[in-house]
Amino acid sequence: MMAAVLEAPGKMTLQEVDDPICLDGGLILKVEACSICSTDVKMLRDGQRDLVYPRILGHEISGIVYERGGVGPEVGERVQVFPGVFCGRCPSCRRGAENQCENVQIFGFNLDGGFAEYLQVPGDSVRNGGVNLIPDGVKFEEAALAEPLACCINAQELVGVGDGDSVLIFGAGPAGNLHAMLARERSASTVAIAETLEGRVDLARSSGADQVVNSKREDLRERAMEMTDGRGFDVIILASRDVAVDDDLLFLLAPRGRLSVFSGLPRNLAAPRLDLNHIHYRENLIVGSYGCTSAQNKAALELISSGSFDVGWLITERVSLGEISRGMEHAERREGLKSMVTEFGR
Ligand SMILES: [Zn+2]
Ligand SMILES: [Zn+2]
Repeated sequence: MMAAVLEAPGKMTLQEVDDPICLDGGLILKVEACSICSTDVKMLRDGQRDLVYPRILGHEISGIVYERGGVGPEVGERVQVFPGVFCGRCPSCRRGAENQCENVQIFGFNLDGGFAEYLQVPGDSVRNGGVNLIPDGVKFEEAALAEPLACCINAQELVGVGDGDSVLIFGAGPAGNLHAMLARERSASTVAIAETLEGRVDLARSSGADQVVNSKREDLRERAMEMTDGRGFDVIILASRDVAVDDDLLFLLAPRGRLSVFSGLPRNLAAPRLDLNHIHYRENLIVGSYGCTSAQNKAALELISSGSFDVGWLITERVSLGEISRGMEHAERREGLKSMVTEFGR
């Protein structure tokens, strides 16, 4: 089969590789859509903590069951796969935090992923509910976005976005827009996005956010206080890799306000100096999030299938597997939003 193989940082080539074999209890999927995540771009350029080379990247995957190892969906069924293959036995798994599983394997990280004609799905994935049927009427490319949406659900559950919360999201990339739509879905009272790229400010107006602020041109602190009657936001979500967590940022939080560190940060921003007394007096909470659980993945696919949560508009570039570099560049330029591989033929 054809696959885009990353051999080392910066070295991804399209090549013919052996067709994957169907494992006992597992599946082979014919991949129909695999979206490009900013993590893929990061892995292509710099590597990543959980990445093992050589590797076929791609963890936002949907496809058709092509071969079946005895259990799970039938050949020909349309499915979306949760990218984590977890053990189900370790303390994290037993507490429902599968994404923190100490034995986890992840498509596109330490298992081959979806930038290929076929995907090998291990039996553990099928057994542990990692393979989800796509309801009629939902396109493969929409279903592939269940995974990034699920990551947003994980973050918003951990940071507790709920009824009446005012929410400020930094970054109007695909994740920032999904966060805005999701916060609305979770009955936030006010949803605002701060973004520095003008093109993305314009695009983010389709997210349903009440306000999209160009934080390069406008005084964000002033605008934030205007929007929240001087209290600050109940929740801030960092869906951008270039926001510093500092005292100025914490100032935008209301008393008991919560901060979600959703994006991984570059080294120069990952070790901030903070006035912990500010956190002490105002009872602020800072919580990270990384990936999602299979239950959150199912919830995301259900939300997309409900018909009231449109993710299709986020796809601004479709490429074939042979054009994957163009897709990566689209993601990296940050002019549009999501790019997606939608053709896998030779
Ligand atoms: Zn992703
Ligand atoms: Zn585990």
